[in-house]
Amino acid sequence: MKKISIVVSVYNEEPVLEKFYQAFEKMKDTLAWDYELIFVNDGSQDRSAKILDEIADMSTKVKVIHFSRNYGHEAAMIAGIDYAQGDGVICMDADLQHPLEMIPPIIQKLEEGYEVVTMVRTANKSAGLFSNFASRMFYKLINLLSSDATFDENASDFFAIGAKVADVMRNNYREKNRFLRGYVQSVGYKKTSLLYEAHERVGGSSKYNFRKLLRFSANTIIGFSDFPLKIGIYAGAFAAMLGTIALIYTLFTYKNAPSGYATIVILICFLFAMMFVVVGIIGEYISILFREMKDRPIYLVENTRNIE
Ligand code: UDP
Ligand code: MG
Repeated sequence: MKKISIVVSVYNEEPVLEKFYQAFEKMKDTLAWDYELIFVNDGSQDRSAKILDEIADMSTKVKVIHFSRNYGHEAAMIAGIDYAQGDGVICMDADLQHPLEMIPPIIQKLEEGYEVVTMVRTANKSAGLFSNFASRMFYKLINLLSSDATFDENASDFFAIGAKVADVMRNNYREKNRFLRGYVQSVGYKKTSLLYEAHERVGGSSKYNFRKLLRFSANTIIGFSDFPLKIGIYAGAFAAMLGTIALIYTLFTYKNAPSGYATIVILICFLFAMMFVVVGIIGEYISILFREMKDRPIYLVENTRNIE
């Protein structure tokens, strides 16, 4: 019998964990495959660790990986995939925003031989108008800039992969600057998508804030596109054009009294601004190269439950 590995990332989810497990208990008998439920505790400071250990004591099919500190959602999903032993892996959140009822249809798709199942969100009730708009703009931008792959708008960090892609993730995508759902969509293979409606969080509050999201978006664009690096070339060409126009203008008006002090100041400010932006962008790339070069581990595990 085939087995599905369900990876759930947990960071300070004390108010929702029991609800999650109860909902899972109710659903698990409808699964066509055997299962393992892998909780990755991403350095929670609340009682999450204890609750997870208690759940693991009830069933050996529940596995827990405790990180040594908070490494972030992406690292938690990667760890879950690393430890998964199933014929397919589903990554989902602990807050029940990703409906458990979708697991049987996902298994159905994996059974049909699909290697990548993207879960497309039809409505996100808990996200505000602004964050929905921001997320749409982000996908527009990354699709415009990246030559690697096209990213599904509305794709979330709820997705499933087959054994082949799971192996690719374990062996080939070990970058420190990560965008897991981007990798999953760019590796090819047989791909399909399912629609789901995101629910409200059942308790606690979102672990992302605007700054984290901005940082994450910038890193993702840098990870998947080298277009920003080339802005310097376009900016240079534009500045040269501007210079030529100024030159011609000056030649034709040189008989008049020297004028244009303000023009000079404006031009200098404008050109320097352009230069600094380009230098800043290069700095961002170098900082990521630096991080990759140091080659530190993506996560460190403190201890595990029900994993031999
Ligand atoms: N999460 C994590 N590490 C972090 C932040 C979040 O493992 O540093 C987990 C969190 O416990 C949840 C999932 O990632 O299961 C998604 O986080 P959240 O629900 O806060 O994000 P949102 O749904 O609001 O985008
Ligand atoms: Mg959530």
